[in-house]
Amino acid sequence: MPSEPRPLSAVTGDDLAPAVLTAIEEAIGPPPRGLHEPTLGDREIDAVTRCVESGFVSSVGAFVDAFETEVSRYTGAQHAIAVVNGTAALQVALQLAGVEPGNEVLVPALTFVATANAVAYRGAIPHFVDAEPLSLGPDPEKLRAWLEANTDQRAGQCVNANTNRRIAALIVMHVFGHPAAMDELASIADDFGVALIEDAAESLGSYHGTRHTGTIGRLGIFSFNGNKTVTTGGGGMIVTSDSELAQEARHLTTTAKIPDPFEYLHDRIGYNYRMPNLNASLGCAQMSRLPALVRAQRRLYRRYADAFAGLESVRLITEPPGDTSNYWLQAILLDDPVNRSNLLKALNAAGYSARAVWRPLHLLAPFQQCPRQDLSVAERLGQSLINIPSTPLAEDM
Ligand SMILES: *Cc1c(COP(=O)(O)O)cnc(C)c1O
Repeated sequence: MPSEPRPLSAVTGDDLAPAVLTAIEEAIGPPPRGLHEPTLGDREIDAVTRCVESGFVSSVGAFVDAFETEVSRYTGAQHAIAVVNGTAALQVALQLAGVEPGNEVLVPALTFVATANAVAYRGAIPHFVDAEPLSLGPDPEKLRAWLEANTDQRAGQCVNANTNRRIAALIVMHVFGHPAAMDELASIADDFGVALIEDAAESLGSYHGTRHTGTIGRLGIFSFNGNKTVTTGGGGMIVTSDSELAQEARHLTTTAKIPDPFEYLHDRIGYNYRMPNLNASLGCAQMSRLPALVRAQRRLYRRYADAFAGLESVRLITEPPGDTSNYWLQAILLDDPVNRSNLLKALNAAGYSARAVWRPLHLLAPFQQCPRQDLSVAERLGQSLINIPSTPLAEDM
């Protein structure tokens, strides 16, 4: 039927950008609209002012303890240790999980570079695993088959048979806030004897079933960078249900100082990674907004879902069934990656911030030599995904 007019659902090429622009405007109104801007107001001004007035702006103070308590309470994590940023939290989590220099760590290819950087800071080697297209997280079936074919158990350790290096841990990242397939991934970690660490930097407010992301693995981390759901300016958190690991995390991130009233005694090479009180004061105010922020991010998704409903060449990324996403970053998957750069140009020129998803990490210069499985899904997603304006709308809060 060559004379049929092309329905809206099949728009491609030059027609795609105007159709997406129309959908975005319908969902969120006129530009400019940022990718993810913080929501700051009187509560934050008040909390930071009280912190300054207290005189305790640095590495000790009541706000740090209060912020840790708030994050514990909200996530259900038994222990929370506040640190300077999410990357530092990951680095320390890897050390606490028993990752030694020269070990390999299973890392998603489709993640922000910080995940693999933290592995490198530990002196370990990222071993990249592929994504599955629904949650965008690691593909459990493909990972299990890969480990079965390429690892041996030697003296109770999982060893990469191709490199003879120990595989000590698996980092799962919850992409844009959408929970990964944690049940299957946790069984893989158990079955192969690797520690499970959750990079929940993007998923504060997201639940796998009834469990908050970050609290399922042995250790989890959150980030409070300026673009995350909750910000402390810069900041991070290590969470765990293991009291010994928690104590160790606190010790290592505060220069491994042994309490003594008059002397500087340190029993390890520790880090100066404690979150300053000033940042934590901002975090306390932000935590009081968290339920409203998550509600607004989820409403934003509904707005986009309605606006994109007729556009078949574009798939809006949706929380996996049974899980609850915080919808930190809204994302669309294009049928045809050829159109992506033109679309990005058109959206940004119109005042709507839009970005390509991260370049899969095995394609970046520092990580090209790392061990990896077939990464064809991560590569396809890496070419076809874009993030669209995700700042929660004031009227939704
Ligand atoms: C934001 C982020 C981090 C770390 O963030 P910091 O900027 O160091 O706080 C780590 N992993 C992922 C996936 C992130 O999105």
